[in-house]
Amino acid sequence: MAGDWQKPKSDMRMDTLLGHAGRAPDRFDGAVNVPVIRASTVLFPDVDSYDSGDRFTSVTYGRHGTTTRFALEEALAQVEGAARVSAVSSGVAAIAVSMLAFTRPGDHILVADNVYGPTRHFCEARLARNGVETEYYDPGLGTRIAERFRDNTRLVFCESPGSLTFEMQDIPAIGAAARTRGIPVLADNTWATPYFFRPFEKGVDVSIHSATKYIVGHADVIMGTIGATEAYWRIIRQTAADYGYTASPDDCYLALRGLRTLAPRLRQQMQNALLVANWLSSRSEVARVLYPALPSDPGHALWQRDMTGAASLFGVELKPLPDAAVKAGLNTLRYFGHGASWGGFESLVTYPRPAKLRTATRWQSGPLLRLHVGLEDPQDLIADLSAALEIMQRAAADG
Ligand SMILES: *Cc1c(COP(=O)(O)O)cnc(C)c1O
Repeated sequence: MAGDWQKPKSDMRMDTLLGHAGRAPDRFDGAVNVPVIRASTVLFPDVDSYDSGDRFTSVTYGRHGTTTRFALEEALAQVEGAARVSAVSSGVAAIAVSMLAFTRPGDHILVADNVYGPTRHFCEARLARNGVETEYYDPGLGTRIAERFRDNTRLVFCESPGSLTFEMQDIPAIGAAARTRGIPVLADNTWATPYFFRPFEKGVDVSIHSATKYIVGHADVIMGTIGATEAYWRIIRQTAADYGYTASPDDCYLALRGLRTLAPRLRQQMQNALLVANWLSSRSEVARVLYPALPSDPGHALWQRDMTGAASLFGVELKPLPDAAVKAGLNTLRYFGHGASWGGFESLVTYPRPAKLRTATRWQSGPLLRLHVGLEDPQDLIADLSAALEIMQRAAADG
């Protein structure tokens, strides 16, 4: 059985829950952690017990999860307040499954214009081919989302803040509007994590994470998770099963290990990010810092109302500079790695071009950097960025 987990006490605070949810030492010789249980076949004592196993709530076959995966899902469900969580092979798989679960040919869906690029691509390349029409909406719409609802609207997909451009959305307003029509609200909550945002208390029905980022936290596993309410978790789990999406026991073990330290990592990374972001705000080379945790950010009030902290991922718009000068500076960074993803212990930088990912709204800015601030000493990170900004200025003057 997958059911006999330590139950959360109602007086458990979040940090305590992160340490205790999804454990069952009595079942594993007292071991603190649920071990990696690798299995394709799971044996039953007789024909009847094999026939009666519920594959979604108990261990029946490796594709539907062994106890290692159930442990991760149980822990995340308790932490985020979901009725149930399903772990799948990537964040993109989590997004795809969630959208497929609710749509069929002839349907219409509403997707925020600032969503993660591959989310948009999935809508265009796959849902369109299935006869599903995607309408992108201005992430600043709030309650006016109601004006976009049609009789065939099957879901709203939010990402707040957007992971490239960091606009906050009024999720409770969108949730309230959608609820009156019975339309589920799906949200990519990778940035806020289950630690800084309680989606099911804010009007979200399906909460998606690229666990690859902060939940795993160590840049070594690709995984996605889908948390859902009682009304929706079975259709999502069924859809994932129909497409054969699963998550390996080894990866689930690492994700569960990452989850145990989510709180202190995020607190420290937020503190580091605020130091770096405030320093950048003070620099003459910087036009603005896109980070809802800063009072200067247009999304600050929504962030303060709805979230309890901020991820260490934010944008920096530079004052106009030639492309070559920006690259010359970025190429000298010692501690900010060039590469996809974020949410690990190490700092990263990318140089995205969000304008081409927009259709409902226009994105205009000078050179935009996206920084992920890791657990390094923030003074080293600031020195690194300071040197790079100087090189950019020099390259621009020489150019
Ligand atoms: C990385 C990311 C994803 C995709 O996750 P993978 O695990 O890489 O498939 C989805 N949404 C956001 C916001 C992301 O940053």
